[in-house]
Amino acid sequence: MSGKLSRSEKRRLLKADSRWVGKPIALNKGREPFEANIRHMVSILRDDKNMYRASEVSEYAHRLHEITMRASKPTKLACAKGCYYCCHTFVTVVPAEVFRVAGVLQKRSDDIVNHIKETHAKTSGISQQDKWRSLVPCPLLDADSCSIHEVRPLTCRGCVSTDAESCKRIYMEGKEEVPPFVIEYNSVTTAIAASLSAALRLVGLQDRSIDWNGALAVATSTKNSEERWLAGEDIFSDVTRAIGTNPGTPFDKMVNGLVQNVAPTI
Ligand code: SF4
Ligand code: SF4
Repeated sequence: MSGKLSRSEKRRLLKADSRWVGKPIALNKGREPFEANIRHMVSILRDDKNMYRASEVSEYAHRLHEITMRASKPTKLACAKGCYYCCHTFVTVVPAEVFRVAGVLQKRSDDIVNHIKETHAKTSGISQQDKWRSLVPCPLLDADSCSIHEVRPLTCRGCVSTDAESCKRIYMEGKEEVPPFVIEYNSVTTAIAASLSAALRLVGLQDRSIDWNGALAVATSTKNSEERWLAGEDIFSDVTRAIGTNPGTPFDKMVNGLVQNVAPTI
């Protein structure tokens, strides 16, 4: 789209967006549902009276993922409670998502914050490539289950498989196998993460993904972390950036394309 829309055109567009907002993404409708949802996410992020708008926009993106996957009825998965192999690898997070998790963890004991710091200390010096093989469990894995399942980040929502034994060989034994991922999950997860990143980029917030352990350590041990990040403070400056969202990567190009299309409409 080129050229800014007039106010009445924007009003008409917002009205049309209601077909897509908060509904499962219609995967056969091209960019339209994604762009409508990005406009909605931008409207959440522009409400600067809301100190928890990063958590809120993440909750929205997570819900969008959940309802879209439920509606698309993908292949039967091998994933189940107690299957934990994939929780021993490198995890990344869109920065806004970590505050939703930190909000839940703050209601728990200090032990978890210390455990996160210890895990981050173990992994912070390891390169992204080596982290895949480090076998250090996610600090939020508890008794072989995800202790924050309801609020887990998009990366974890998209990491699903049809064969747990193959996951065991890949994640625990370091075998070079093509993971039996499920294409519907991968493409929906990538598109929703790109939409969330585009919304953040459109309002000038940090959108490139970062290391999960580092993000958790900062968000749980920094006072008023969400408020400070929303005010533009680079609280994650020491956290490793994820290679996959660097400038020029296919993901970054996808985000740029969405930003270019949506910018004139907001
Ligand atoms: S992705 Fe693999 S390891 Fe993770 S829960 Fe699913 S089957 Fe288990
Ligand atoms: S957040 Fe949960 S699902 Fe994701 S790696 Fe950690 S324990 Fe596993």
